[in-house]
Amino acid sequence: MTEKPCSSCKKLLPLTTDYYPADRTTSSGFRGQCRSCKNAANARCWHKKNPKVFERASVLNVDPHMLVMVGAALRMWKGPVNRTRPLSPVIGVAA
Ligand SMILES: [Zn+2]
Repeated sequence: MTEKPCSSCKKLLPLTTDYYPADRTTSSGFRGQCRSCKNAANARCWHKKNPKVFERASVLNVDPHMLVMVGAALRMWKGPVNRTRPLSPVIGVAA
């Protein structure tokens, strides 16, 4: 199996989609950064963009990523909405 060092953490990882996101624009067909580095970079970037979510999550003592997923799921969900209840179930549980 071909291995390749990650451009960020320099770890030698198998060149498969389990370790590297596929990218047809690169010569190897994979990204230079391994998945865990990419995820870490995404998390950092995301943290900067959403400081309020992190604040609220720490107050509620929940995973901030869960808060975002719940929010995204609620926005995507187009089914019947009970307007008499708070829109966010996370807030409802904590209250
Ligand atoms: Zn890496």
